[in-house]
Amino acid sequence: MTEPAAPPRVALTTTPTRIQPLAGLCRRRIHLKRDDENSSIFGGCKTRALEFVLGAATQADATTVLTAGTVGSNHIAATALHAARLGLAVTALVLPQEPGPLVRRNLQLALNAGARLHPVPTGVSVHPSRPRHQAAVDELLDRGERPFVIPFGGAAPVAGIAHALAGRELADQARALALPTPLRVYLPAASTLTAAGIAAGLATGLATAEMPFEVTAVDVVGDPSVTGAGLLGRARETAALIGAEEHAVRPEHLRHVDGHSAAPYGRPDPRSEHAARLLHDTAGIAVDECYGAKALARLLADADTTDDGTYLFWHTGNTRSADGGVSTPVPPELAHYAR
Ligand SMILES: *Cc1c(COP(=O)(O)O)cnc(C)c1O
Repeated sequence: MTEPAAPPRVALTTTPTRIQPLAGLCRRRIHLKRDDENSSIFGGCKTRALEFVLGAATQADATTVLTAGTVGSNHIAATALHAARLGLAVTALVLPQEPGPLVRRNLQLALNAGARLHPVPTGVSVHPSRPRHQAAVDELLDRGERPFVIPFGGAAPVAGIAHALAGRELADQARALALPTPLRVYLPAASTLTAAGIAAGLATGLATAEMPFEVTAVDVVGDPSVTGAGLLGRARETAALIGAEEHAVRPEHLRHVDGHSAAPYGRPDPRSEHAARLLHDTAGIAVDECYGAKALARLLADADTTDDGTYLFWHTGNTRSADGGVSTPVPPELAHYAR
């Protein structure tokens, strides 16, 4: 038997990202995993995934990528910025969402990077089997492009490999720093692909060290089809993808908790607003209202009740966009997101 070939990858990130201890947010010291700093172009968890996703696009000799997501998503902005630097054009089918500061910033970044955004109304499917998606493919083929399709939100299976390697990275750091156990990792979750990958990486990276850990996926969306059982299954599939034993990931390694019922996706609630302000005032670090603020609020509430172990907030967001400051006009049909 031969080992599976390593999947193609392009270098977009600078890793390992640092672990930053921080006092003053709650009764005890917490740690931050500064993945927001993994790229000076556009950082965060989406950029780790794009190393493999755009690696596959490059290997396929594509001239353009076609993807889909909500209009101001980190995925669309990250894809627009990083693909452009690799010489790939970007077309995205974009779905409506709640307007807000993160959405406004990401939309502008995507437009500035030259992405072509096609707004799709609520209720129209952008699934690759559906007419709207097929029409977009046909249009690109007619123009002589070779399109490579990236699934909605960037949730390609190879993205799981990127997150598992990120989990391994933290496992190495936790061992080297001898962080007190259990290691309790908190991050925001939507599809849970990121949390699953990180848990798979930690499970395989910490098993030999016998370091107990727990990944808390703070659900900021509230999609009833996304469950804790699904998260465990996904983490085990991801472990298999990196050649590890699936059952290295155990049920006690994962929690899927509510981070959405106080306010729907994209809207702040008082606790998450307070957490974001505290982090900003204490350390000058920004977390966004869609993801980071809600996961941090949950961590701070839990950390105040426990004395042992390590509480680690995985900063999955982007804090470092550099795009030269030019401002591409926002098309009229998207103008209400830019205000
Ligand atoms: C996409 C994203 C996540 C996690 O999304 P999953 O779909 O659960 O992998 C978390 N935080 C930020 C900032 C994101 O952009």
